[in-house]
Amino acid sequence: MVTKIGSVGLWGLDGYKVEIETDSRPAQDPVIDIVGLPDTAIKEAKDRIISAVSNCGYRIPSANIIMNLAPADVKKEGTVFDLPMLLGILSSTGQIPAPDENTAFFGELSLSGEIRRGRGVLAAVIAAKELGFKAIFVPEKNASEGAVVEGIDVFAAKDVLSVIDHIEGKRLLSPEKSSIAELMKNAGDDTNDFAYIVGQQTAKRASEIAAAGGHNILFIGPPGSGKSMIAKSLPSILPDMTFDEIIETSKIYSIAGKLTEKEPLCVKRPFVRSTQNVSIPGLTGGGATPAPGLISLANNGVLFLDEVAEFSQKTLETLRQPLEDNIITVNRVKKSLVFPSSFMLVCAMNPCPCGYYGHPTVPCKCKEAQIEKYLSRISGPLLDRIDLQVALPPVTVSDISERKTLAESSAEIKKRVDAARKRQTERIGKYGFTCNAKLSPKAIRETCVLSPAATAALNRIMEKTSVSMRSYDKIIKIAQTIADLAASDIILPEHIAEASYFRTLDKKYKK
Ligand SMILES: [Zn+2]
Repeated sequence: MVTKIGSVGLWGLDGYKVEIETDSRPAQDPVIDIVGLPDTAIKEAKDRIISAVSNCGYRIPSANIIMNLAPADVKKEGTVFDLPMLLGILSSTGQIPAPDENTAFFGELSLSGEIRRGRGVLAAVIAAKELGFKAIFVPEKNASEGAVVEGIDVFAAKDVLSVIDHIEGKRLLSPEKSSIAELMKNAGDDTNDFAYIVGQQTAKRASEIAAAGGHNILFIGPPGSGKSMIAKSLPSILPDMTFDEIIETSKIYSIAGKLTEKEPLCVKRPFVRSTQNVSIPGLTGGGATPAPGLISLANNGVLFLDEVAEFSQKTLETLRQPLEDNIITVNRVKKSLVFPSSFMLVCAMNPCPCGYYGHPTVPCKCKEAQIEKYLSRISGPLLDRIDLQVALPPVTVSDISERKTLAESSAEIKKRVDAARKRQTERIGKYGFTCNAKLSPKAIRETCVLSPAATAALNRIMEKTSVSMRSYDKIIKIAQTIADLAASDIILPEHIAEASYFRTLDKKYKK
């Protein structure tokens, strides 16, 4: 008898329908053949299925069993077809009734017939719904991740027997339910909070501006000045994630196998740190079963490049496309795939190779030419995409003694950031822009209004420092965010002055 069991395959973040057709005919000895371009994992599935079948009290009868994973021309990866394949064998040999054809099954088996925690459940559930399935069985340990999707029944499959009991109507399972609002409420407080960062008022102010306008930012300061701590605290002052952002980022974490039972979704903006030792596939994504890289794990959050001057040019070059397009394309022989990579870029570097240029007590050992060369490593395409450049002074003894009292909390700063974002949405939303940092040169001319005195102030800066046209636009964008934070409808001279203050490297890169 031929049976068909529905399942979902994953390619990157996208899912496609897989149908497992099973035919069995009586024969002398049991033979199982699997066709439909299975990879090694699916051949290994045969062994797991045979064990699971007998450990659950069923048997592989004396029959020629042929399984076809359709569509046959798509290479299927992973172990998630174990469960539907087992159900195909049992139903085609008449041991259990055929499951409903509007139900999909997704899960890897253990030898004893348990269904293991797996990757990609959220993406699979979303795909199953889009493919028209009415219900899907997923591993119990991933069920809360899939259950946030509405419009499809998500059943938690603990083991083969509980799934069969449900199919036979002996013991019906109820669909799982979980809500994003509930998960957000239970997400807990951030341990990285601006309240714990003493001193560094300028860097904090720059962080607030960066968060308010979605600007990329570079911190330049000696070791121990708190660059990493400030970077880590940045997500805590960014606006809350929207529903769509939570789903998009959680899908990436689901595919990467990085969601946990305790935190089944990413309800907070991610913070992802990369060091210079990162490989290019590690950063951009790749591998045999293409996995998202760090830039996609930072999607809708912060990507932090620590010691950015130590990164190779080649590595930094790979950031150009994602910074421009907010996506990364991972090329594959047959079919390339795209991962979202919309992140706020935060970089940190020392002011010179030894780290102590300009330090009041520790002497710098570097020569002028060495410092020039060091700073020039981040020039070009990367620097072009960084709006704010902030020099951090060393932390002084009096800063440290201040540590007894808490500074302003992230929650307080976030209120101002949220208000500034609201002003931006009202002003530029209709032009299709989400924040000031993304404004095109044309949109800057159309939407940013400078007072006559502000225009004069900007022209004076241009004459004095001969900065490039790109820097000119960046100063306006930053000034616009500062005006938004000040709830001002127009850009005033003080906004221009503060904005130009956050262009530390303009003085070093006269073009
Ligand atoms: Zn030095």
